[in-house]
Amino acid sequence: MEVEINNEIYNVIIERKRSTRNTYIRVKDNLNIFVTCNILTSDRYIIQLINSNSKQILKMIEQVKKRQRKKDSFYYLGKKYDLVYLNKKGITFGENKVFVNPDFDLDKWYKKEAEEIFQIELNKMYNNFVYKIPKPSSLTIRKMKTRWGVCNVKTKKITLNLELIKHRIECLDYVIVHELSHLLFANHSKEFWKCVEDNYKDYKKIRKELKEDE
Ligand SMILES: [Zn+2]
Repeated sequence: MEVEINNEIYNVIIERKRSTRNTYIRVKDNLNIFVTCNILTSDRYIIQLINSNSKQILKMIEQVKKRQRKKDSFYYLGKKYDLVYLNKKGITFGENKVFVNPDFDLDKWYKKEAEEIFQIELNKMYNNFVYKIPKPSSLTIRKMKTRWGVCNVKTKKITLNLELIKHRIECLDYVIVHELSHLLFANHSKEFWKCVEDNYKDYKKIRKELKEDE
């Protein structure tokens, strides 16, 4: 359901519960109007209620926007931007600001960027590798909670953490070197770290930056 307030269209999400006696209106971070009410409450009643409280709802919308302007930061390749929500399509970069629509899917965008950049860096680090190693069979990018990268020694599949897109490219390069080194040494032995160092001199600094402790 949609409502128009002050010439703007808002989505209305209704959650009907048996246990709820009153009707509550909230504004979510994506600027959807969220209504909790009893299962018997009609759509018509909800619309009426929204219209008669439109002033207060507009105030809530303004509060959400203000809060977002203050708190939201956006990280891309090691640079921090302020995230600004606009009713404009897509994503636009300013000097220190990024402008996006509240409905814009940032994770999807990050993934698309990562797919391109990570593959380029993987090829680069592989081609510059100082030892002969097997060619990785595939690259997968996904969000991971506890690891920056995974290398399956058997299948030679490399997985990189999507979150690396938020760090500077040197961090990505180190993680790639780390995973490529596993193609020679499956464990974290002395020889393994020597191989990492031969391919990435500053690796200790980067590990600290990534808070890698394994
Ligand atoms: Zn490792």
